[in-house]
Amino acid sequence: MSDHSEKLMPVLFVGHGSPMNAIEKNEFSESWAGMAQSLPKPDAVLCISAHWETSGTQVSAVAKPDTIHDFGGFPEELFDVEYPAPGSPELAKEIIRSVSKFNITADKNRGLDHGCWSVLRCMYPRAEIPVIQLSLNYAAEAATHYKLAKELFFLRQKRILIIGSGNMVHNLRLIDWDMEGGGTEWAVSANNLLKDLINHDEHQKLIDYKSLGKEVQLAVPTPEHYLPLLYAIALKQPDETITYFNEKMVLGSLSMTSLKIG
Ligand code: ZN
Repeated sequence: MSDHSEKLMPVLFVGHGSPMNAIEKNEFSESWAGMAQSLPKPDAVLCISAHWETSGTQVSAVAKPDTIHDFGGFPEELFDVEYPAPGSPELAKEIIRSVSKFNITADKNRGLDHGCWSVLRCMYPRAEIPVIQLSLNYAAEAATHYKLAKELFFLRQKRILIIGSGNMVHNLRLIDWDMEGGGTEWAVSANNLLKDLINHDEHQKLIDYKSLGKEVQLAVPTPEHYLPLLYAIALKQPDETITYFNEKMVLGSLSMTSLKIG
């Protein structure tokens, strides 16, 4: 079993937080850079980002994806950032062909959103590794996302790095601007509860996150920043270890907690 696991590409869930992490040298961006150094060099990256929700599931199939600046109210410097990584229409095609239980369509125009490039710019600044994205079908239940994620397992055997990019605790309405580095009580307990379930492979409970009580309901007011975490854990083998990084709360109601599987 361990032989099998050793050949698998690790999987990441990254709490991306503010788009400014793309251009700031801070503890988060530095840890993303360090994480990339510690991983085997992937042949390509597949990113499942909170910032691409669609009707049905789509995969980006563009040879030269644009950098999408899908945010407002940030300095010009951030809008000037380009992340010119190539895409991989071939890999997109392979995913469409291989994932037989779900209908995935190719989007031939879609660029990279900030959930994807803000992290990858710090991990792979030379932008030489091809990147594609898989969208979140907003009509699908959490259990469906989890099942779809399992179908992507074959990519781990092909040196493809799968990154779920969201935030485990993400409530923009409850942001406390006076708490630059720290979490309010409910946010910390939600973060701890989710971590505890992740550590014990309690995947069904994580799928049924709406039943995890008041704190988790506040932590996950909308599903898009949470679902990328389900994609990551669905790809975990029972014997694999989980390593956490960027374990920090910011602005009261955001958790940067990130993890590596394998
Ligand atoms: Zn986000």
